[in-house]
Amino acid sequence: MGVSKYNHRTMPTPETILKTTFGYDSFKPLQREIITNVQARRDTLVIMATGGGKSLTYQVPALLFGGLTVVVSPLIALMKDQVEQLRALGVPALFINSSLSSEEYQANMDAVRRNEIKLLYVAPETLLTPRIFSLLSSLKLDLLAIDEAHCISEWGHDFRPEYRQLADVRRKFPTAVCMALTATATQRVRADIMSTLEISHANEFQSTFNRENLFIEVMPKSDPTEQTLHFLQNFKDQSGIIYCFSRRQVDELADALSRKGFSVRPYHAGLEDAERHRNQEAFIRDDVQIIVATIAFGMGINKPNVRFVIHFDLPKNIESYYQEIGRAGRDGLSAHCLLLYSYGDASKIKYFIEQKEDPERSAAYQHLNAMTRYAEGSGCRRKPLLDYFGETFPGDNCGTCDNCVAEQTTLVDITIPAQKFLSCVIRSNERFGAAHIVDILLGSKNEKIEKYKHHELSTYGIGKELTKSQWMHISRQLVERGLLDQEPAYRVLSVTAKGLEMLKSREQLKGQINEPNKTERPNARLKSPTAEEADYDKTLFTLLRTKRKELADASNVPPYVIFSDKTLAQMAAYFPQTEDGLLNMSGMGKVKYERYGEDFLSIIKAYCRENRIEEKYKAPMRAKDDAGRRYMAVGEAYNAGESIQDLMKRYAVNVDTILNHLTRFIQAGNPLRSAEDLIALSNLSPDQQMEVFKAFDTTGSDALKPIYDKFNGTVNYDELKILRLCYLCEQR
Ligand code: ADP
Ligand code: ZN
Repeated sequence: MGVSKYNHRTMPTPETILKTTFGYDSFKPLQREIITNVQARRDTLVIMATGGGKSLTYQVPALLFGGLTVVVSPLIALMKDQVEQLRALGVPALFINSSLSSEEYQANMDAVRRNEIKLLYVAPETLLTPRIFSLLSSLKLDLLAIDEAHCISEWGHDFRPEYRQLADVRRKFPTAVCMALTATATQRVRADIMSTLEISHANEFQSTFNRENLFIEVMPKSDPTEQTLHFLQNFKDQSGIIYCFSRRQVDELADALSRKGFSVRPYHAGLEDAERHRNQEAFIRDDVQIIVATIAFGMGINKPNVRFVIHFDLPKNIESYYQEIGRAGRDGLSAHCLLLYSYGDASKIKYFIEQKEDPERSAAYQHLNAMTRYAEGSGCRRKPLLDYFGETFPGDNCGTCDNCVAEQTTLVDITIPAQKFLSCVIRSNERFGAAHIVDILLGSKNEKIEKYKHHELSTYGIGKELTKSQWMHISRQLVERGLLDQEPAYRVLSVTAKGLEMLKSREQLKGQINEPNKTERPNARLKSPTAEEADYDKTLFTLLRTKRKELADASNVPPYVIFSDKTLAQMAAYFPQTEDGLLNMSGMGKVKYERYGEDFLSIIKAYCRENRIEEKYKAPMRAKDDAGRRYMAVGEAYNAGESIQDLMKRYAVNVDTILNHLTRFIQAGNPLRSAEDLIALSNLSPDQQMEVFKAFDTTGSDALKPIYDKFNGTVNYDELKILRLCYLCEQR
């Protein structure tokens, strides 16, 4: 592996490296800005959510600089993983840490000394040893990248004393640029990193913590194992993590799933190191589909194709929850996060909190309360999560959380179920929680029913038309609407004055009735970021995946080191049959093409021949066209005369996405050519449209919910979005 092609002769740009080495068409938000800053040799702090693409921000500069880049990383497993991925891309990278034999250590030292290496990964304690130190002093060190930089701060959740000393190391290499990277964003930690490494505010880059590709759902926990099994039906052969509170729960659930024929392994601190390691490795290599784990699992995991994360029990606080769901969908394809919530779990955590002393105790309570508020909330899930990181979610309906999707669905008449529920609460003397009320309505037989003689109530068994989870959902809606009151300690329900009024007046009540089992809703599929994800050829994908696994096993690396799922999904959507076609797939760099291209091309060609399928053209995306700025490109193309249909085809997205882009375009102050094409999308009569425009006049057009409510849900959100766009267009 020669370095010369990076050193001399040609002067590559970040764009060419992105395309030829990494195989990507465009930068993710902020990546380009960060790279420019580093190229200008300014010390830089990078704060990005997991999956945001931090690594690329030092890897690209590393390939642009003439000298060596040293990457400090605290986790040996991650180091190995990164190096494997880089080597698969043809980038000369190595690591030095305590896991190496003395021969390997020496060999790696020699390679670095001979200038054969562009990126050297080291553990912080290794960097502090005199041998490494003198080695580095003899070389041209251009960039010092400190990954997981929050480990510097005592205020962080993962303080490591060796990290503190990195400040000295940094000072000894004054000509090197220093980068600090982390996914932890609390103000205190940030300030600590900046002061320790002497980075100025001007050089701080923080990207959004919003992970658009995660579908977020919270479901009341009734029969969690059953709910999990049900959920898994939609994730055949797909990787996922299930988090449990206790080791015992981990073992039990792993057993239960395994008995049902799932490919699953447990992971917790009670297992032997070797077994834990084996289980993790099997998961990473796609030999095992599911890991059931305590929170001990995940730190060293870089697996990009985790398609779901289930919280079987309530997490302690929002920060850990967000970190855990963040392990899903790093590859940018959609992933589903499900939290099973019960008040009982909160009580369990409370029990542990009670053993602590203040101020820890009250802090823990605050965290828990924030968590339960989140789980019980009826608004967009993204808002409180982003709020926690000091970010405001723009817009009013994210379209990819359970509550927002529910808001988009039409409301139905729930008067009768509401009356049944309220009467049942009254008949049982307002002394029980929702679960028991539902048991009565369903005519269940259990001890508690017998003890209180509730089978003798007139409301016993009158609610068999709905399922338990549907009734629980109704109950929550009644609480949210103020018809029921829920006492906080024991969750006892009582009927409010408003509830009594509703019973008496027999006034109609609108609300939602879930599908019999909530996960059956095709919600995760509602908004696929790209077409290739939605309509790739599943059979071809499986063939490609098998090939990938074979190649990965042969080189003893995880499959994602060969290609990501996204690369395979694109191949199975566009059926490329030539070198150019294949190079156009995301993640297909030159070296990867040389190594694996033929293998995959021959599979695709054979498959297409057999099934008479032709290659589909994939428009190369323009470099500037990253997701963050796409609305500009869409708006400009529309103004240049392209129709909505053209745009949908070109960007391989649905009409909703185009409307969102155009709305952003116009809200950013740009005029749109005309509303004619847009109004044609509406199915309302001109009179109805007029009514909606009037409502925008009086209520404003920033938030759609008030308008939706104004029309009592009779005008759906799709219509409102179309009409808002026309309205804004006309106003200009
Ligand atoms: P982080 O370290 O911030 O969690 P990574 O650096 O691991 O994120 O990147 C997450 C995923 O996104 C990786 O699979 C990476 O290859 C991919 N990625 C990074 N930058 C881009 C890009 N510009 N275009 C497409 N994929 C990218
Ligand atoms: Zn939402």
